Amino acid sequence: MSPPSLIQASVPSTQTAPIALSYELFPPRNEAAEATLWDTIRELETTNPDYVAVTYGANGSNRDTAVELLNRLLTETSLRPLAHLTCVGNTADELAEIISELLDHGVRGILALRGDLPKDASSQPRAGSLGYAQDLIELIRRVEQRRSALLCAGKVAIGVAAYPARHPESPSVEHDVEVLLAKQRSGADFAITQVFFHADQYKDLVTRARRAGVSIPIIPGVMPLTSLRRVQRLGDLTGVEPAPALLDALGRADDAGQSRRIGVAATVDLARAALDAGAPGIHLYTFNEHGAALEVLDKLQLLRPAPRTAPQRLVRA
Ligand code: FAD
Repeated sequence: MSPPSLIQASVPSTQTAPIALSYELFPPRNEAAEATLWDTIRELETTNPDYVAVTYGANGSNRDTAVELLNRLLTETSLRPLAHLTCVGNTADELAEIISELLDHGVRGILALRGDLPKDASSQPRAGSLGYAQDLIELIRRVEQRRSALLCAGKVAIGVAAYPARHPESPSVEHDVEVLLAKQRSGADFAITQVFFHADQYKDLVTRARRAGVSIPIIPGVMPLTSLRRVQRLGDLTGVEPAPALLDALGRADDAGQSRRIGVAATVDLARAALDAGAPGIHLYTFNEHGAALEVLDKLQLLRPAPRTAPQRLVRA
């Protein structure tokens, strides 16, 4: 597939900030999935995203594949990885070790998450584990401080999760904003949202957050919802209620092609509404597939900076 027609010209005015673009991938579960993922990575690379996020299983089970994927992104591509990390499934000591390892490999962005709690209500958190994402942010900052000489005074960018629809365990959307403010105070630099189905939920989150003193960018996370099964599964996984109109439209689709067109159009509308409301970027959840993500991107026509060019080699006469 040819790269989408992003506007490649340099951003004309210093007053117009380019829109940030990022994708989310998950570590492959087997060799066949790895081959597909790498096709996707190569296609996404052509769009010159600002970073590519790599998820982390909250039970720590995919730690090795996640680290391997991050390393390959750093060494074999031009992409900048954002490593997800979760409190659940690791002790604080183990997390400190993983953070050090990531920094040693060259990772400079971490999405600090608590992770979903195990479904089995009787299972207790491991002794020495961290309770909240906020604790993980503080741990990352402590590890960073110990290594500041190695980082040449650079800084690790820390992202966090934000919730346009109430987090399923939270008592209210106001509490969600208090948590987001606490994460900012502990050192978060930016937030990426959970999926949402109504643009007003994103706008309301930003309004509430700004009123409460949250000043970090809040980037809407959008997912091409190209099949009824996917939308329903997503609702179950995240606790976010899917939009009835979308469920209805996907349910009435005659074939996969029509489902895909409906899903892409809905995602473009959602992302466009968030951008119109002032969103500083778009984070595309890809499911490790590039097709629908690139279609969404193509239709959005984002104002993006010109791609970086490789430095010219000096040839001596
Ligand atoms: P927290 O911010 O710690 O919040 C968890 C709950 O505790 C919330 O209900 C909050 O209201 C409450 N809370 C937080 N702090 C306090 C406090 N001080 N006092 C009282 N209550 C508090 N999961 C994965 O397992 N792997 C991933 O790679 C992954 N990637 C994600 C990427 C994005 C962009 C998003 C939005 C979510 C992702 N998740 C991932 C899911 C995430 O782990 C879950 O939503 C999880 O349930 C909450 O994580 P959190 O970081 O928001 O937790």
